[in-house]
Amino acid sequence: MVTLSPESAAAGSGAMELFQLLRDGTPRTRAQLAKTTGLARSTIAARVEELMRMGLIMPVADAASSGGRPPSQFALNPSARVVLAADIGASHATVAVMDLTGTILSTRTEPLSVAEGPVPVLTRLVDAAVAILADAGRDIRSLAGIGIGVPGPVEHSTGQPVNPPIMPGWDRFDVPGWVQQHLQVPVLVDNDVNIMALGERAVAWPTTAHLMFVKVATGIGAGVISGGELQRGAQGVAGDIGHVQVARGSDVPCHCGNRGCLEALASGPAIARALRQQGVPAEDGNDVIALVKLGNLDAIQAVRQAGRDIGEVLTACVSLMNPSVIALGGSMARVGEHLIAGVREVVYTRSMPLATEHLAIVPSAAAENAAVIGAGMLAIEHALSPDAFHSLAG
Ligand SMILES: [Zn+2]
Repeated sequence: MVTLSPESAAAGSGAMELFQLLRDGTPRTRAQLAKTTGLARSTIAARVEELMRMGLIMPVADAASSGGRPPSQFALNPSARVVLAADIGASHATVAVMDLTGTILSTRTEPLSVAEGPVPVLTRLVDAAVAILADAGRDIRSLAGIGIGVPGPVEHSTGQPVNPPIMPGWDRFDVPGWVQQHLQVPVLVDNDVNIMALGERAVAWPTTAHLMFVKVATGIGAGVISGGELQRGAQGVAGDIGHVQVARGSDVPCHCGNRGCLEALASGPAIARALRQQGVPAEDGNDVIALVKLGNLDAIQAVRQAGRDIGEVLTACVSLMNPSVIALGGSMARVGEHLIAGVREVVYTRSMPLATEHLAIVPSAAAENAAVIGAGMLAIEHALSPDAFHSLAG
């Protein structure tokens, strides 16, 4: 712990306030900064110098200035620090090194079963992280944080998975505490759908404040961004729409013990089951995707109906949240337009006109990178926050 003298603490907090303006990466002149903050030009000049000395901001070439004048605009220095991002799936893990704007500098994906338990999985994750930091030419001292996404519910305040159905041995495991024994930086953990929402926004909708990301795969879930903030709810399960009942499925049992859940009707395995009942051989979601790509009409109709079922639940979400974007991702989104057409059919017909007037229902643009980019954004958001400024500056 560094103890700051009153003067330097005051100067540091002034620099931090200016940094909070510049962290969005938009270049600004000293005059613009003075106008926005209401501070004297001389104060702004001193704080810009301080942030430059820390390496956190850099001069940006000013197109309008010429004649050899020094650069007059400043913005976040994206390579001041790096973050690590990890997307742990059921059967694979992707780890990436990113700069402070979320650009991937180095990445690797390897097969890895989350069911092996936390210690084997996190050991391999830390090894991979150290290796790709070296690949990116950065050392551990430049690391500002780690974001990790896992395929199950997470208590956000502690980073601990809570009763995750497909992660045996992970219940209440202290993921941040374990990782910090090896890499002494802030570690943030969230569920995969939440980080996919963050990744989707970063890639395709950076100025959108109201966005829902819907993952359709073996399960169905949503990540909700409202008012510019990811909404986790009281227990971290906001957006868990997979077990909302759909009217047409009242006799279909779900693994949760209820009947008629969206997940029991419209997930990859559920569509495959419905096709088998019609005599069409399909074992899982991948078979469904293959059949649709071959033009199998039964499969196309089943996927379209799954889209309508998802649309039925999303219609209620639209009434509640009034998003301007709904992005569909997850492995079943690879099925193409048929799923999204079913969603649009119901949401646009059943929602109030004002709620859908500017509502885009689109395939995920970040696609298979949504989760790892979102995990990075989680770490970046923390690293650039006022609370973390002194460790960033140090
Ligand atoms: Zn259920």
